[in-house]
Amino acid sequence: MAISDFERYPLTFGPSPVHHLPRLTQHLGGAQIWAKREDVSSGLAFGGNKIRKLEYLVPDALAQGADTLVSIGGYQSNHTRQVAAVAAKLGLKARLVQENWVEWPDPLSDRVGNIQLSRIMGAKVTLDSAGFDIGIRSSWQDAIDEVIADGGTPYPIPAGASEHHLGGLGFANWAYEVEQQERELGVFFDTIIVCTVTGSTHAGMIAGFAGQDRPRRVIGIDASATLEKTRAQVERIARHTAELIGLGRELSDDEITVLEGWAGDLYGIPVESTLDAIRLGGSLEAMITDPVYEGKSLAGLIDLVSSREIPATSTVLYAHLGGQLALNAYSGLFR
Ligand SMILES: *Cc1c(COP(=O)(O)O)cnc(C)c1O
Repeated sequence: MAISDFERYPLTFGPSPVHHLPRLTQHLGGAQIWAKREDVSSGLAFGGNKIRKLEYLVPDALAQGADTLVSIGGYQSNHTRQVAAVAAKLGLKARLVQENWVEWPDPLSDRVGNIQLSRIMGAKVTLDSAGFDIGIRSSWQDAIDEVIADGGTPYPIPAGASEHHLGGLGFANWAYEVEQQERELGVFFDTIIVCTVTGSTHAGMIAGFAGQDRPRRVIGIDASATLEKTRAQVERIARHTAELIGLGRELSDDEITVLEGWAGDLYGIPVESTLDAIRLGGSLEAMITDPVYEGKSLAGLIDLVSSREIPATSTVLYAHLGGQLALNAYSGLFR
C-alpha cells in the first residue's frame, strides 16, 4: 500500500497555502521562516488540521453506513468543532462529549468560540466535568452506546482523530503536498515545526517525510504538558502509519523528536512565552495564533531560531494548524 491507495474525501479547497514570513524572519535575524496554513485551507467552519485527518476517515464512515459521528474533546476543542462541520457537510449527525480540560477562569468557555459553532451546526453537545487526558475515555464510550441505544449507527472518532487506525494518513499526505509545493516554489524546508498534543498530526508528517529522498528535521513542540504520553503516542502512530503507507523500513528513534519547554505546566494554560509569541506573530505578520496550541509551537520556533539551535542557514516551515476560535474563551488576555 502507498498513501495514494487510500481513499480521500475532499473537504479542503486543495493544497493549503504556503508563504514566506519576511518580517518575522527579519526580526529574529536567523533562519528563513515560512508557514503552511491549515487554518485557511477549508470552507468548513474555519477549518484546521482535523479536517485533513477527517478526509481519510470519512470514506470509512460512509462505507460502514454510519449516520452519527461521535467524538470527544475539551469545551473549546477545535477537533470536535471540525467533526461537527464535517457531519453537517455530509448530512450526518454529530454527538460530542466536551470535557472540562482547561482550568481557565473564563465564564464563557462553554458558550463561545468552538462550542458555539458546533451547536450552530446542529451537533448534540454534552458537557462532562472530567479533566484533560489524551487517552480513551468512558464518557466517549457512553456516547457511542447511547447512539446505538437510540437506533443510530455511530462512527467513533477518538480525541484529535489520533488513536484511529487511519488518523495519521492526513498528515502523511501533507508531507507529499509539501514536496510538491517545494518543487513549484523552488525552496526546500529542511526543518518543520509542528505543535503536538494527541499526536497524529506530527506522527503522520514523520511517516510521510520518511519516505522521501531528502532528509529533514520534523520537530514536534509539545503543548500537552504530559510529555511522555504525547511522545509515546506520536511514536506509536508514526510507526503504525509508516507501516500502513508501505514505508518498508522501521522508523529510527531520531526521526521522532518531541521537544518540551513551551507548554508551561498545564494543557490550555498560556505562559509568558505563549503570549509573547502570539503578540509577535500578530504584530509582525497578522498571523493569529491561539493560547492552547499554536502560540506554544510558535514560541518554540522563535526560541529555536533565535538561539541558532535551528541554524541561520535553515529554511523552516511552520505548520499553522488553526485554533484561533479558542481565543474567544480567553477574553481576559490582551486587554
Ligand atoms: C488538535 C490541534 C493541534 C494538535 O494536533 P494533534 O494531532 O492533536 O497532535 C494543534 N493545533 C491545533 C490548532 C489543534 O486543533
